[in-house]
Amino acid sequence: MMRNRQHESSSAGQTLPHEEALPEQPSTDISNLKGEANSQNLQESATDRYKTLFGSIDEGFCVVELLFDEAGRPVDYRFLEINPAFERQTGLRNAQGKRMRELASAHEEHWFEIYGKVALTGESVRFEKEARQLHRWYEVCAFRVGKPADKQVGILFKDITERKRAEEALRESEAHFRALVEQAPFSVQLFSADGMTLRVNRAWEELWGVSQERIKDYNVLHDAQLEEKGVLPFLRRAFAGEAVQIPAIMYDPNETIPGRTMNNEPQRWVAAVAYPIHDQAGRVREVVLIHEDITERKRAEERARLFAAQCVSATAKFRAVFEQSPIFAGMMTVDGVVIDANRLALEACGYTEEQVIGRLFWNTPWWRNSPEIQDQLQAGTQQAAGGEAYQAVLPYWWADGSQRLVELTIHPIRDNEQRIILLYPSGVDITTRQRASARAEFLSRLAQKLSTEVDPHEINRIATAEVGEFLNAERCYFFQGLPEKNRVQVLPDWHRGEGLRMEGVYEMERFGRPEWWEAVQKGPISVDDVSAHSWTKDFTENYQKLGVTSYCVAPFIHQGSWVAAICLASSRPRHWSVNDLGLLEDVVARVWPLIERARTEEALREGEERFRALADNMAQLAWMTDSSGKIFWYNQRWYDFTGTTLEQMQREGWALVHHPDYHEAVAKTWSEALKTGSPWQNTFPLRGKDGSFHWFLSRALPIRDLHGAITKWFGTNTDITEQRETQVALQVAQEELQRQNQALESTVQERTRKLMEALAELEAYSYSVAHDMRAPLRGMQGFAEVLLEDYSSQLDATAQQYLRRISNSAERMDRLIQDVLSYSKIIGGELRLESVDTGNLLRDIIQTYSNLQTPKVEIKLEGKLPTVMANLAALTQVFSNLLGNAAKFVAPGVTPKINVRAEDRGDRVRLWFEDNGIGIDASGQKRIFGLFERLHRPDTYEGTGLGLAIVRKAVERMGGEVGVISEGGHGSRFWIELLKGNSGEP
Ligand code: ADP
Repeated sequence: MMRNRQHESSSAGQTLPHEEALPEQPSTDISNLKGEANSQNLQESATDRYKTLFGSIDEGFCVVELLFDEAGRPVDYRFLEINPAFERQTGLRNAQGKRMRELASAHEEHWFEIYGKVALTGESVRFEKEARQLHRWYEVCAFRVGKPADKQVGILFKDITERKRAEEALRESEAHFRALVEQAPFSVQLFSADGMTLRVNRAWEELWGVSQERIKDYNVLHDAQLEEKGVLPFLRRAFAGEAVQIPAIMYDPNETIPGRTMNNEPQRWVAAVAYPIHDQAGRVREVVLIHEDITERKRAEERARLFAAQCVSATAKFRAVFEQSPIFAGMMTVDGVVIDANRLALEACGYTEEQVIGRLFWNTPWWRNSPEIQDQLQAGTQQAAGGEAYQAVLPYWWADGSQRLVELTIHPIRDNEQRIILLYPSGVDITTRQRASARAEFLSRLAQKLSTEVDPHEINRIATAEVGEFLNAERCYFFQGLPEKNRVQVLPDWHRGEGLRMEGVYEMERFGRPEWWEAVQKGPISVDDVSAHSWTKDFTENYQKLGVTSYCVAPFIHQGSWVAAICLASSRPRHWSVNDLGLLEDVVARVWPLIERARTEEALREGEERFRALADNMAQLAWMTDSSGKIFWYNQRWYDFTGTTLEQMQREGWALVHHPDYHEAVAKTWSEALKTGSPWQNTFPLRGKDGSFHWFLSRALPIRDLHGAITKWFGTNTDITEQRETQVALQVAQEELQRQNQALESTVQERTRKLMEALAELEAYSYSVAHDMRAPLRGMQGFAEVLLEDYSSQLDATAQQYLRRISNSAERMDRLIQDVLSYSKIIGGELRLESVDTGNLLRDIIQTYSNLQTPKVEIKLEGKLPTVMANLAALTQVFSNLLGNAAKFVAPGVTPKINVRAEDRGDRVRLWFEDNGIGIDASGQKRIFGLFERLHRPDTYEGTGLGLAIVRKAVERMGGEVGVISEGGHGSRFWIELLKGNSGEP
């Protein structure tokens, strides 16, 4: 190896030829270089030059010795010499002396083959190859060095990786570009600067129905058709270096390329752009022409124009129909541009032509609120443009923002040749229909809910709640007319949340003008705001109390007159729609009859329940028969008493319970009653379940229908066994009582008689005692007075004093006896009452007694004194006693003054005896009416203590009362009260 190297280095000498020159004469140069020269000088200078060049060139250079295997195939090479640039160009370090496989084991096989061939053949090669392992591309020039047997090759190489990559990138982008152009949906034609076609893409071929092959002789700059249509000048400008837009023309390729076979409809409307591609010098190298086929668009426009013209020229009648059509109608191009809309479509929705015409259908304000619907419509328009009518139910919007529902159809319109030239959108607003079906659904749901309800209150509750919720009201209720005119009864209401209950009776006059109330009774009405409506504005206050600001009402009218109504109310102003009212009408028409029927049934049911309760709890046995007398019902008591069953009774009849002795007679009267229809009554025994007979009073009344025909009999059996027994017992007791009464009566009579006898005896006795006692007393008194008058001279003062005492005592004794006598007369005797004129009586008394007269006493009878019911004798006694006391109990030296007056006390009269005497203290007032009660010793004021006792007893026995009022020292005021007498009598 070393040997070879030495040899090589010594043999290298000549300047390497220039890269470009190498391929031409490599071997010549090399032979020169490699020391074919003879002169030493020449060789030395060549070696120097070689070394200078070797060390200074940018290219890599090396000399390698090829290594072959046994079969003579080149398998490796060894680096004998490398220049300084080698390492930079290869990235291999310290390569000298090493084998290539050692440095890059995966170095491609062809490198060895090429160099092997060079070494063997001596033919130089020049090539570009990639060395993958070195990640580089090389441009290589290889030539044999030295003798063929040395198998040495000189390699001059340059790293061209950069260039290669750029080329690759270019190629790739070129390929992309080509693919792109090729696949582009628009047609592209590439011209050389002289107007010949360089390339066309697939779209071009499709557009014109020609392959590129067929136009190799075609020069666009000489195209007569383009010339004729006036677009060639535009094209020339492009060839002159300007990008231009070429106006649309209709081009017929058949004129240019006769005998085309493809495409049945060759003429195309095309618009095109052309732009030049310049070379580096700024010259136009190529021109690109891009066609756009606008045939369809042109044709559609043409047709639309045609159709529009037809339409415009169509009769005014058609226009009128279109305009006045009850459906929304319009026209649009196949692309969806609205070109017409009828009045309904605009005005009903509140849009102007400007908002609609010229816009894409799905961008018009009808659909503005929903991108989703806009998408649907775009698809629908395309569908219609494709020939298939589109139909859908869609929400749409009015200018006022309200959302509605339209049933929309888009029909394609075709011309005579069946080409779709226009689209005809039309729509029907189905908002109302939709609402109506919601209403129907609601009503059927309500009907279902109420179908099983039998309680009228529940029906009311459910219906009002359902309607209130459905119509989103605050309150809902029924009200019904009352017999009194203009008064209504509000049923329990439904309302949202807490609130006043409205149930109750209302005067309709307080809620609106008379015409309002008339209207309410005739049909549905609504009041959006009570304070604003002429019917109700004067009644706002009454509505406020109920929290009602707006409402609507629908009446239930039966046989022409108003029966009841349903009402929806709200506390805020609200607009009630026709729909709301319609629904209310439906509801009241359906629900009110249900309420009424349920009420009737309830009443019947209650009646039935009441009847059963009554019948089963009444004391009697009860039964009902049909008109023929066949019994179909007994009350519980019947079964309890007889122990029979209904079947038994119906099978065996009354004989089962009747006493055999009575049965026949009873049956006869009963069938008589059935025949005549008159009430039946009979008394007979019935057998109880214990076998014993009880007596019953039986009655039956016929029950008649409206026409007076007997439908049933209602009968009762009253158990009178006990009554009969009681009656008998009562009679016995009464007789006994009577007997005893009689006995008692006679006993009483007997005793009374005895008592009366005893009393009379006693009276006679006491009277005679009193009377008999008075005679000796008067004797004693008389004799004492005789002694004093006739014998006073014979008697000393003491004796005279004694005599006077005897006389006084006798006198007192006599008065006492008189008083006792009058008292006993008053308590014992019968006091017959009569009308007594008190004034007259008093005057008589005063006249009779001198010590009641002036100047001793002054008595004043004040005013007209009344007539009283009294016993004359007793009253005389009473008056005398009272006047006597008044005259008597005065302070010494005082002249008694007595005032008598009357006080009216209803049916009674009170007589006052007022004096100026010494008065009576409080404790005395309580005692003085008692027997023998006196407040003074007899030597101060003489008396017996019986006067007032007699007054009291006498007045009480005449049915009156007595009393006194006195404050000690200021006189006394005695009073007696008696029934008024008959003043007509004396
Ligand atoms: P007498 O026989 O004492 O009058 P009365 O029964 O008449 O008995 O009266 C009872 C007493 O009531 C008298 O004793 C006297 O004290 C008192 N009295 C009755 N009348 C009057 C009077 N007008 N004024 C004051 N005291 C009277």
